[in-house]
Amino acid sequence: MAPLKVNKILCIGAGYVGGPTCAVIALKCPHITVTIVDLNQARIDAWNSADFALPIYEPGLEDVVRQCRGRNLFFSTDVDKGIREADLIFVSVNTPTKKSGVGAGFAADLNYVELATRQIAAVATSSKIVVEKSTVPCRTAESMRTILEANSKPNCRFDILSNPEFLAEGTAISDLFSPDRVLIGSLQTPEGKAACASLAGVYANWVPENRILTVGLWSSELSKLAANAMLAQRISSVNALSAICEATGANIDEVAHAVGYDSRVGPKFLKASVGFGGSCFQKDILNLVYLSESLHLPEVAAYWRQVVEMNEYQKRRFSKRVVDTLFNTITGKRIAVLGFAFKADTGDTRESAAITLIRDFQSERAFVNIYDPQVSETQIWSDLAEASPTVPAETIKKQVKICGSALEACRDAEAVVIATEWKEFKEIDWKEVYQHMKKPAFVFDGRLLVDAAALTAIGFKVTTIGRPSL
Ligand code: NAD
Repeated sequence: MAPLKVNKILCIGAGYVGGPTCAVIALKCPHITVTIVDLNQARIDAWNSADFALPIYEPGLEDVVRQCRGRNLFFSTDVDKGIREADLIFVSVNTPTKKSGVGAGFAADLNYVELATRQIAAVATSSKIVVEKSTVPCRTAESMRTILEANSKPNCRFDILSNPEFLAEGTAISDLFSPDRVLIGSLQTPEGKAACASLAGVYANWVPENRILTVGLWSSELSKLAANAMLAQRISSVNALSAICEATGANIDEVAHAVGYDSRVGPKFLKASVGFGGSCFQKDILNLVYLSESLHLPEVAAYWRQVVEMNEYQKRRFSKRVVDTLFNTITGKRIAVLGFAFKADTGDTRESAAITLIRDFQSERAFVNIYDPQVSETQIWSDLAEASPTVPAETIKKQVKICGSALEACRDAEAVVIATEWKEFKEIDWKEVYQHMKKPAFVFDGRLLVDAAALTAIGFKVTTIGRPSL
């Protein structure tokens, strides 16, 4: 069976994945028309804004959108039109963890995937390749296929592929330009293989052939969960060791360096920190936990659950260390929190460790000054309200101040907490910061970002992860 030539691509979901991924496809495949749709009008307006005030911050993204928008890249809220016209449809909608109901707190909420699938089935009048881009539990493609086949019109066939996205926020564009691999899962039927070849043909416009991996559908779905679980597991492993370092005088940087020198382990992703955040790691591991429990594999579920529990422990441990070091009370004290995004080079705050730390400081009745170079004030207020639903908004506003610079945040503070590894925090004039802080002035480096010895020489009392306090 000959692969279909793809001329028109639709992406349902203009978020952190759908937006950058399909913008890069448009850039690399000028012969393909790419339309990205979303139900969220404000998001689409931002993608279409005349001044390129895009809804997400990613280094290099604006440049890609500037080159393609209006040429072969379009953003719209007209989902039906997009479905009717496309040959190939990416489903890149959100798959959060269920907040209530069966499996709440663990299972993936597949409502958005199902609604998008039903809409494709209802609107399509010609055959389509439907691609799961969202991260989903193993065998979700089967549910999608059942919905599509039950609702399809005559002469209208649907081939389902899994093509999970491995980009990391903050480096999305460079990850998309030269991915470690592109994974495509399909049914091992002639039709499935032909659909797989069609999508592989799109990526082949810029990705070397040996980096395009084709596997079975279920392997592809599970590989995405497995990849995130194993990355998060590395972080939790090094964080667990950081607690031992703090208690013994070993240095986690030295330990990680020595361990990572072993080529079987490798040096990447071995940095201790206040804990991982982001919309994916925790959700995907919990998904794996839920899947394992559903398959009656409780020991497997317990194994993966521990990765998330270690992460929660690391955040709690850090908050406690701040309180302990500040003479066992932070009531009425001002703490500057530098960074609110879950990592540097993104404005995304989902599951950010900063939110947990700030909530802990608020509950100890401290005053908190926050500065982040990319996260909007509206986002910060909304995240803080969500983190403390029982605390009235006026109380939060009395305790928290959002600042326009790191220096402003540190003014009159007793302690600075580095929650995100923004490069600019490394380059702050720490001598000036010291002048403006109360004494003794404390720095808690949750990202192993600053030169602890240099700050100590200025006069700061420095606490870092994985080393005894200086
Ligand atoms: P997101 O919340 O930023 O974007 C999803 C978008 O889909 C939203 O704008 C929402 O309005 C839209 N949407 C939902 N239902 C829709 C529908 N029926 N029609 C049109 N639009 C609809 O989410 P994201 O971060 O882009 O993640 C998308 C998926 O990719 C998730 O499954 C996630 O786990 C996965 N993923 C995310 C990352 C990441 O770093 N963010 C990386 C790899 C994979």
